[in-house]
Amino acid sequence: MNEVVKKQNLLDLDREGLERFFADTLGEQRYRAHQVMKWIHHRHVTDFDAMTDLGKALRAKLQEHAEVVVPQIQFEKPSTDGTHKWLLGMDGKNAIEAVFIPDKGRGTLCVSSQVGCALNCQFCSTATQGFNRNLSTAEIIGQVWVAACHLGNVPHLQRKLTNVVMMGMGEPLMNFDNVVRAMSVMRDDLGYGLANKRVTLSTAGMVPMIDRLSVESDVSLAVSLHAANDELRTELVPLNKKYPIAELMAACARYVQASKKRDSVTFEYTMMRGINDQPQHARELARLMRQFDNTVQSRDAGKVNLIPFNPFPGTRYERSTDADIRAFQKILLDSQVLTMVRRTRGDDIDAACGQLKGQVVDRTRRQAEFKLHLQSQGIDDAAA
Ligand code: SF4
Repeated sequence: MNEVVKKQNLLDLDREGLERFFADTLGEQRYRAHQVMKWIHHRHVTDFDAMTDLGKALRAKLQEHAEVVVPQIQFEKPSTDGTHKWLLGMDGKNAIEAVFIPDKGRGTLCVSSQVGCALNCQFCSTATQGFNRNLSTAEIIGQVWVAACHLGNVPHLQRKLTNVVMMGMGEPLMNFDNVVRAMSVMRDDLGYGLANKRVTLSTAGMVPMIDRLSVESDVSLAVSLHAANDELRTELVPLNKKYPIAELMAACARYVQASKKRDSVTFEYTMMRGINDQPQHARELARLMRQFDNTVQSRDAGKVNLIPFNPFPGTRYERSTDADIRAFQKILLDSQVLTMVRRTRGDDIDAACGQLKGQVVDRTRRQAEFKLHLQSQGIDDAAA
């Protein structure tokens, strides 16, 4: 009986992996890998027969050993404000969401890293669905591919996609290798050619993984902070029990100090009425940011992004009033803390920050397997 050889999905490979595949499996030179990368990521071509500058023999070899499998669009929805959301099927059972947000002179894609999320942040819609699995590199970069194809994005020529934020469903640092590989394609000239600063990874505070990221990548770092004291933060972000604020801030300082290419960390702060939006909370946050600037010895090393809470069905939280958000921002600005208020986008299509839901077949109720995974990374199940 003939053995069926599993084909390699080329979206799973960054430049280095693709060069290796061309050399080891196809017996081809590395520049051929570069040609194929451009076909896939610049021209959005997935059919090897349409890659016309490759010889017939190479195209036949590619057909035999490789494939380019992109996520299937199950549903897409444009918002009245230009935001565009895709529901992307991942494996017949699960789906994730990716959102494109155009703004003056920039276009930002919010990308998911996991099917669901195990971290259980109390104000997050994704958390209510539980966790199923990590996304592969192909499934992560595939979200960028789908958006770039839809937008007619051509890196260096017709750039519509200027920024990618790993802020969709999931905790990216719990899917470390696949996320780092996908971010490498985002930043590669043969991929999407984005500068390091234009790719942002947002974490709930996986301290050991922030240190690992510091060694492996120079992307921008954002932290979901949401409270400046441990008691409240542990209530909102249970991971804080494992990695309290002092440890988290120290890891952020190490991240900035480890490379001259990094000068700041953005701290995301979701504004929830009567929970974390009062003047004493703002003063506490200002103190924390000043301490951070002092540790890093750089003014504006800690930037604050205030995010008006986006309600979702079943949540017990409400959005802060505009007056409270403005008063909160003023306290921070008066304390010399660079503070922006994020404009809410796409809330008519449930695409606003914290509202992404997708379709998740939850396995967290039977999560022995996932606990083992956490323990193998030195993390106990306080996070789950
Ligand atoms: S906020 Fe992020 S880390 Fe927290 S549960 Fe939601 S997706 Fe997970």
